[in-house]
Amino acid sequence: MKRKKRSIPHRVRDILIFLITILGIARMYRRWAKKNGPLVRVLVFHDVHDREWFELMMETLTKHYHVITPEDFHAKHFHPNRINVLVTFDDGYASWETAVQSVFKENELRGLFFINSALMDVAHNGEWVELFMRERLLISPRAPLTWEGVQKLHDAGHTIGGHSLTHPNLTNLSEEDMVREILDDKHTIERHLNTILTDFAYPFGTRAHVSEAVCESVQASGYFHGYTTVSRFVDFDEPFSIPRTCIENESTPHELKRWVGGGYDLFVILKDICVR
Ligand SMILES: [Zn+2]
Repeated sequence: MKRKKRSIPHRVRDILIFLITILGIARMYRRWAKKNGPLVRVLVFHDVHDREWFELMMETLTKHYHVITPEDFHAKHFHPNRINVLVTFDDGYASWETAVQSVFKENELRGLFFINSALMDVAHNGEWVELFMRERLLISPRAPLTWEGVQKLHDAGHTIGGHSLTHPNLTNLSEEDMVREILDDKHTIERHLNTILTDFAYPFGTRAHVSEAVCESVQASGYFHGYTTVSRFVDFDEPFSIPRTCIENESTPHELKRWVGGGYDLFVILKDICVR
């Protein structure tokens, strides 16, 4: 597997996370976090470029952690002594159907897939897809998932969640537009799948993209959980601020373990303190 060269800031970050882990600081952090109950980590992937790499990631997770299903997560069925890991995906990419689904099937895993319904609506129109990827997801264009793909994931026992119609920064919208983005998306997906959605992932998901008004609107739309991209172990006292840790394509198994183990959380906390 060929690996792209990382930028200097990313290399510095990775060295700091490595040090945080080998010096035992992450272990102390886990001990502290465990006082509130079993350790639960939610991961988020996006487009999976390389099936082999994803297979390696899932092998690492199943070997070292207790990988749970969305149902386990909702019912709080956790292993008391191991790190429980839920695997989620954001936006809607064809690779979920071509790569992720088969790896999940082989490993008997279940995932939570958050989709933008407006992207599914234009999935068969190349020009619109390109525009959506560039303007809404802020990425270079790639193949999107389709409604047929969403149906296949749903039929295979995976859980589908909402991610807004068009992936805006919800905090910038008028209340009317915010409600439309959240509620119309939910109703559209529910109509397609003939099911009720309970999970919503905030577009972008950082603290700057999730306000109290946004959380309240998600709750008022009938969702039970809201997922951010703020990396921490899960605290169930805040069901509309469920933290998630983004896993970058090309991460190594060692890096994945450091991020699941809390090294990345501590790096972010340290960075926030230094920047303040
Ligand atoms: Zn997204």
